[in-house]
Amino acid sequence: MTAAVIDGKAFAATLRARVGDLARAFEEKAGRKAGLAVVLVGEDPASQVYVRSKGKSTLEAGMASFEHKLPADTAEADLLALVERLNADPAVDGILVQLPLPAHMDEQKIIATIAPDKDVDGFHVINAGRLAVGQPGYVPCTPLGCLMLLKDKLGDLSGLDAVVIGRSNIVGKPMAQLLLAESCTVTIAHSRTKNLPDVVRRADIVVAAVGRPQMVKGDWIKPGATVIDVGINRIPAAEEGKTRLVGDVDYAEAAQVAGAITPVPGGVGPMTIAVLLRNALVAAYRHEGLELAPDAI
Ligand code: NDP
Repeated sequence: MTAAVIDGKAFAATLRARVGDLARAFEEKAGRKAGLAVVLVGEDPASQVYVRSKGKSTLEAGMASFEHKLPADTAEADLLALVERLNADPAVDGILVQLPLPAHMDEQKIIATIAPDKDVDGFHVINAGRLAVGQPGYVPCTPLGCLMLLKDKLGDLSGLDAVVIGRSNIVGKPMAQLLLAESCTVTIAHSRTKNLPDVVRRADIVVAAVGRPQMVKGDWIKPGATVIDVGINRIPAAEEGKTRLVGDVDYAEAAQVAGAITPVPGGVGPMTIAVLLRNALVAAYRHEGLELAPDAI
């Protein structure tokens, strides 16, 4: 068997176009653009790339982008004060503080200061709690993007066995909550899980969010299963001195067994920013008390 490739890049492009249409409609109704603020502290090269790309995508979607770049030695109190200003700014619908923050800052404290109704990353405990109890809130972008790809591929997920490998607050835990809400039978695996290959072999849906290159092997996959690979790992390429990106799944092996699989790159990665824009737009509609049909986006 050769798995169908789940094209996250194409899906994300469609989602971004839909966000763009709705952003224009929002501007007409509200008399202002939806706005997303992104805060970067320090000069971490990967974070700089993410922030640049988020700003560019925000503008492309017809939304206002507010970028705040602070030096690495910024005092925590100054970052908290900026977040408070953004909380109070009516032009800002969504606030994203790029992680990781420098070591002298308490990430949880910063996240807790973001107004929950502007927390478009969905990291605030209020939004994590809303997800856990099934209330509307903001769901972290990467797992929500994974769920969109799964529903697009499989339709109704009810009753399927899902194994999520990884239990981070950013990916694994919210992913498991989302799948549970879709009535999957969910197992969360992690570094202490015994007989991981056997656990994964039960799954109709495998979501790998580990951060270990090509850890999930082809013979861990149940024939026909759907495999979502969240991992982004850089490993040495065949060509001397070069590197390449791989996921947490051994793609070449798993694609022989799975029914469908996301590639790396071009699978989950492009979904994250598209869902961020989606969350920011939803926030804008909510802030203006404007109707947005639940299936609009
Ligand atoms: P974390 O490091 O926060 O979490 C990794 C999880 O994997 C932990 O729960 C850990 O278990 C578990 N784990 C580690 N080793 C093993 C093992 N040998 N067997 C089973 N489980 C293991 O990572 P994130 O959740 O933040 O990210 C995971 C991956 O996804 C990374 O590659 C990251 O780059 C990528 N990512 C991609 C995004 C995208 O846009 N596509 C966005 C976010 C992340 P334990 O809790 O026991 O330590």
